[in-house]
Amino acid sequence: MTVTRFAPSPTGYLHVGNLRTALFNWLIARKAGGQFILRLDDTDPERSKPEYADAIKEDLEWLGLDWDRVETQSSRLDRYAAAADTLREKGRFYECFETPTELDLKRKKQLNMGKPPVYDRAGLALSAEEKAALRAERPGHWRFLLEHERIEWVDGILGDISIDAASVSDPVLIRGDGQVLYTIASVVDDTEMGITDVVRGSDHVTNTATQIQIIEALGGVVPRFAHHSLLTGPQGEALSKRLGTLALRDLREKGVEPLALLSLMARLGSSDPVELRSSHAELIEGFDISRFGAAPTKFDAEDLYPLTARYLHELPLDAVAGEVSELGVPSELAEPFWNVVRANITTRADMAGWWDVLHNGAEPLIDPEDAEFIEQALAMLPELPFDQTTWSSWTAAVKAETGRKGKGLFMPLRKALTGRQRGPEMADFLPLMQAKPRL
Ligand code: GLU
Repeated sequence: MTVTRFAPSPTGYLHVGNLRTALFNWLIARKAGGQFILRLDDTDPERSKPEYADAIKEDLEWLGLDWDRVETQSSRLDRYAAAADTLREKGRFYECFETPTELDLKRKKQLNMGKPPVYDRAGLALSAEEKAALRAERPGHWRFLLEHERIEWVDGILGDISIDAASVSDPVLIRGDGQVLYTIASVVDDTEMGITDVVRGSDHVTNTATQIQIIEALGGVVPRFAHHSLLTGPQGEALSKRLGTLALRDLREKGVEPLALLSLMARLGSSDPVELRSSHAELIEGFDISRFGAAPTKFDAEDLYPLTARYLHELPLDAVAGEVSELGVPSELAEPFWNVVRANITTRADMAGWWDVLHNGAEPLIDPEDAEFIEQALAMLPELPFDQTTWSSWTAAVKAETGRKGKGLFMPLRKALTGRQRGPEMADFLPLMQAKPRL
């Protein structure tokens, strides 16, 4: 069975970059009829916060990305300790004592000599006495001993990958303070939870190389890997600094519709065009990870609004009935109100503006050269309530009286009655008017 996972650290809010990872893993699991696990990578006790874990769940629920179960790394520390013991027994784990400053110095020296900054394995050469002496001064951290060979896999997005293990530092798996690090925790979880497919950002490619060796050392089955490209801003600029402003909850707050966001993310960076989907089933149907490319993917949050507008345009009243009624729209007007506004809003919040215009009367938009004409026309406007014929009979009468016609007739009248340049069919709009323009 296909099993995927989305493994955020609960140290902040999810943003569009994380969403890509979550969505791809969710789509793969759902398409295969498999399982999708939400795994909280919370081994960092300082930075992990329960409120972020709750926020992650809330954001995924908003998007309709449901999970089959939740796993937390903090409750599996004994499993990681057992794996560390196995690696020790196999001679693949060694203790090191360099401080961060010493490591930094080593790296700088290597770079100055034109060498790659790969850890020199000094820890491996320490005698038992030297280690005991060092241990008395400071706690040791533990590194995995890589085998210096090429590590290869066929990546679901990047294709054939081959990394020389000798070009990578032996990864630290356990810190001096005993904190288990992501690299080993993730491997143990992926192996023990039977994860078959791992999709994550291309910033993890080197991790994957080392993780493959750790999985093999632990006797596990290596999953299929796919690394999606990282998102950039519309100009190709790095998005990392701006991701804070692209939190999923901010987009929700701004009125972006879940299916607009998912439709964009399910296609952006692939060779298929972005298509607005009206259900999760359609998203699943149209997804194919092999269509994605390695090039950085440009993301522009502005693209979400036309998609949101199109999504709303297609919605039946049922989907918004609660909000329409909360605005105070009487139930008998709900259907015609929705039909009039849905093609003229970008987000749901825009409905309120239209109801205000209909209910309280518009703040008219009148160009100075139309002032007299509008005064004349409004004087000819019949008493409320209006019906389906009011617009045509009134404009015909105004035309006869003033001689204006076409755009010169209709545009100023629209602007006076709605307070806006653009909007619904006026014949449909007038029967909903509860008040004349506020002059
Ligand atoms: N917690 C890791 C991250 O957010 C998970 C990476 C992975 O998918 O293995 O980067």
